[in-house]
Amino acid sequence: MEHVYDLIIIGAGPGGLSAAIYAQRAVLDFLILEKWFPGGEIANTFEVENYLGVNRLSGMELAEKMVQHVQDLGVNITIDPVVNVDFSGDIKKVITESTTYLTKTVVIATGASAKKLGAKCENRLGGYGLTYCATCDGFLYKNKVVAVVGGGDVAVEDAIYLSRIAKKVYLIHRRDELRAIKALQERLFKLDNVEIIWDSVVEEIAGENFVEKIIIKNKNSQELSSLEVNGVFIAIGHSPNIDFLHNQVELVEGSWIKTDSHLETSSQGVYAVGDIRDTYLRQIVMSVSDGALAVSSLTKYL
Ligand SMILES: Cc1cc2nc3c(=O)[nH]c(=O)nc-3n(C[C@H](O)[C@H](O)[C@H](O)COP(=O)(O)OP(=O)(O)OC[C@H]3O[C@@H](n4cnc5c(N)ncnc54)[C@H](O)[C@@H]3O)c2cc1C
Repeated sequence: MEHVYDLIIIGAGPGGLSAAIYAQRAVLDFLILEKWFPGGEIANTFEVENYLGVNRLSGMELAEKMVQHVQDLGVNITIDPVVNVDFSGDIKKVITESTTYLTKTVVIATGASAKKLGAKCENRLGGYGLTYCATCDGFLYKNKVVAVVGGGDVAVEDAIYLSRIAKKVYLIHRRDELRAIKALQERLFKLDNVEIIWDSVVEEIAGENFVEKIIIKNKNSQELSSLEVNGVFIAIGHSPNIDFLHNQVELVEGSWIKTDSHLETSSQGVYAVGDIRDTYLRQIVMSVSDGALAVSSLTKYL
């Protein structure tokens, strides 16, 4: 007979790794599957200084510490990307490129990826003045000049947040009005150190080793201009990593996984944690907390 695990955790970022610690301590028969390298999005983060107990650490070091912690407890992380799932029965199938695993419960911890602009030099300067997270990296730009790209709630919130830190904030938006809710817009328009550049797209992010300027194009006149900035914050949204789910759990607004207060999804025995789920805050502390809660909940279900 084929082996049936108590639990399969999909994704080895902070959410999945925290779930693994709780699963190991609950003596569950479980597996943790990862697509690339364990550690998740924080491995791409310059520095973390808002996670309790960690004064200041590079994202890579924190990711390595988390992975080491889990491995020291005897957990083996399997590198095997999940490409499909079948949650229709009591015994669920988790399908990777090489194997079909059977399990009684699943924790989905596959996170989200920031949408990229597609501007010239975006990849090269990522982490060197170009970032996708104002809450995480804003403090680095005290009294500096920064640009936020986007026009939705997150972009406007980021611009407001950065206006308290930076000397000057440009908000670059491709339309002639913002999509953000009116209350946020009103707060933004009152700020003296925020300048909105309408109808414009970023063509290039330039700088030798660190961001020095951006080249923007006015969509009406097609004119190019250059803005000297120390940092660029891209806030055009995140995409959840849900391709392998094929709509087998309920989503909110077609994107984020809907969970109840126990972090169970619409499919019984299937839980979702961290950035992938419908949540107001996407930060390490949330993912770690979710991992613990989901495993405590599913242990009762088992
Ligand atoms: C630039 C940047 C800076 C940040 N700085 C901070 C900060 O300073 N402080 C803070 O608290 N937060 C910060 N964050 C947010 C933080 O990184 C996330 O909230 C956190 O990593 C989410 O953890 P997670 O486990 O939910 O998802 P992730 O960290 O995204 O981990 C998901 C994991 O699942 C894997 N995966 C995806 N698909 C599959 C699949 N099909 N099969 C198997 N595995 C899969 C991925 O490879 C990844 O390892 C930052 C984010 C960014 C982008």
